[in-house]
Amino acid sequence: MRRPLIVGNWKMNKTASEAVAFIRDFRERVAASPHAEVVLAPAFTALESARNALGPSSWIGLGAQNVHWETHGSFTGEVSAPMLRELDCRYVIVGHSDRRTLFGERDETIQKKVQAALRHGLSPILCVGESLAERETGLTESVVTAQLNGGLAGLSPQDLATVTIAYEPVWAIGTGRAATTEQAVTVHRSIRLFVETGWDNDTASVVRILYGGSVTPQNIEPLLASDAIDGALVGGACLSPDSFARIVRSAQIQRV
Ligand code: PEP
Repeated sequence: MRRPLIVGNWKMNKTASEAVAFIRDFRERVAASPHAEVVLAPAFTALESARNALGPSSWIGLGAQNVHWETHGSFTGEVSAPMLRELDCRYVIVGHSDRRTLFGERDETIQKKVQAALRHGLSPILCVGESLAERETGLTESVVTAQLNGGLAGLSPQDLATVTIAYEPVWAIGTGRAATTEQAVTVHRSIRLFVETGWDNDTASVVRILYGGSVTPQNIEPLLASDAIDGALVGGACLSPDSFARIVRSAQIQRV
């Protein structure tokens, strides 16, 4: 059985000291549980303070929001996978729709980032998802499949097993309009089938597929009620310790 994963993506929010205050508050509200894994993805500048506030072997993991595919060099403003590993990051979000739409990231660079992350022992969280226009013209599956192909092509089954896929319909991100469980499940099933067809059954059965897009404490339960949904990538609702703790607590009791 796949262990649910809840990832909080702070995006460009919280300074280093705000990150520490959040962690202190959040940890008062929720305890570790074997039934769900929790990851926070602060901005680069808050990673070190977050790591120190969490302490060694914390039950809350750390993730980054982006990574460059080279290890070092003349790439002003970029951060490499070894730099993230040294800060104890376990995960890195790759191909978020902000990166695709605002920063022009394409599948080729996303693929390089996925591969660089894996080479350096980071688990990529590959984000895929269609725009509203694409959904309305019946293109959801082909858009998502193209993004999956773009990001994952050439990975071995062993590598793919450590990748997390986040289905994040662009029209649901930050809009307050989450996908229904039925809409999410349909796409999640097609993603799992994509993995099964392109790799094998065993790999498809272990890859975690998260839903992201306006997840809140109010709508997390019906989403996680489906075993096709292995957790959530949370944006706005992870900025408050209270609402993120409520989401995490729901996940911890859902698959007991
Ligand atoms: C996101 O940006 O990945 C996201 C899911 O944001 P929100 O939860 O605010 O829709």
